[in-house]
Amino acid sequence: SPIPDYLHEVLSACGADTSGAVADYIPELAQVDPDRLGVALTTVDGAVYEAGDCESRFTIQSISKPFVYALALQQRGLEAVLDQVDVEPSGEAFNELSLEKGSGRPLNPMINAGAIVVHTMLGDPGDPQGRCDQVLAGLSAFAGRPLDVDEAAYGSETATAFRNYAIANMLRSRDSITEDPEDVVAAYTRQCSVRVSTRDLALMAATLANGGVHPVSEEQVVEEWVARQVMSVMATCGMYDSAGDWISTVGFPAKSGVSGGIIGALPGQLGIAAFSPRLDPHGSSVRGVEVCRHLSADMGLHMMDAP
Ligand code: GLN
Repeated sequence: SPIPDYLHEVLSACGADTSGAVADYIPELAQVDPDRLGVALTTVDGAVYEAGDCESRFTIQSISKPFVYALALQQRGLEAVLDQVDVEPSGEAFNELSLEKGSGRPLNPMINAGAIVVHTMLGDPGDPQGRCDQVLAGLSAFAGRPLDVDEAAYGSETATAFRNYAIANMLRSRDSITEDPEDVVAAYTRQCSVRVSTRDLALMAATLANGGVHPVSEEQVVEEWVARQVMSVMATCGMYDSAGDWISTVGFPAKSGVSGGIIGALPGQLGIAAFSPRLDPHGSSVRGVEVCRHLSADMGLHMMDAP
């Protein structure tokens, strides 16, 4: 297949860009090798193509948000989840302390405020341990293999998660969460500390693209309507305050995380993942975004292009 050669070409075209900086507000993330670069593509019938560093593991961070949103939708239903968290793009940074005027809900599940509420909607109230187990099992089902938690990253982030404690206290003050804010942030941070490879992320994205069915294990992880809802919210809110630029130039639902991962999901076609730790000012991987731009242009992946 010419695809791996093509992917190597894309990496060479993007590889020289060393702009941006690794996230350092989480001390453990400042330790990673910033030169790592990988890309993986998975078709909905389970073919995996990869180039560069697709095996090394990193913490999933905000890329967990669409998948835990999917698990909450599946467990609680659309109405119950919408009742707590809206689906409007915020145009703000991922860690903004903001709530919707009027309703007081977090604006969407892709920013931290919304993701923290969505996290607490899994499992039984008051059982953070059970919730963490469900998150790990759910993310593993999306990946099609058992994932684990990076304890060092988890410890390092909980020790410095002052911004998320502020967000959780804001949420607690209006009863959007009902548990102790510190416990909630700890459990949400465990969710962010699940370790994945670029290859895992491509399979997870392909599961969304494939209507909730893992393309290799063939497990129906979530129902089709859930996958549709999640990809819709990724399209409008997945790239935070660059969501509009992203959807107009790259043109497919995506989600980035501060460890340098980025995923794209093309309904009925592909799951895409790229990894490179240096970030742009929005908190998205510089070279990961560049790789996605290349793939979109070369392979005609923009959703608004006529077929
Ligand atoms: N764990 C990180 C945080 O909550 C995730 C942020 C991200 O990846 N954008 O700050």
